[in-house]
Amino acid sequence: MKCVRCGAEASAGLTTEAVELGNGGVLVVRHIPCYRCGHCGEVLYAGDVVTRLEALTARAEELVQEVTVVNYAKAS
Ligand SMILES: [Zn+2]
Repeated sequence: MKCVRCGAEASAGLTTEAVELGNGGVLVVRHIPCYRCGHCGEVLYAGDVVTRLEALTARAEELVQEVTVVNYAKAS
């Protein structure tokens, strides 16, 4: 996959993302599959990963108190 910022080649890896929720909570998702640019460090997600993260975030807003950490690979 090419980096959207600089056009260099991005390689597959895993990352952690912290998402601020509408209810004031924070959801931390670990082990998210991503592509990381070796040149500028930009992190890219495949389309299905974005969709799944949005679903996780929407569900978390109903459950999260302050801070919740989930493992992407284990969350359905
Ligand atoms: Zn780049």
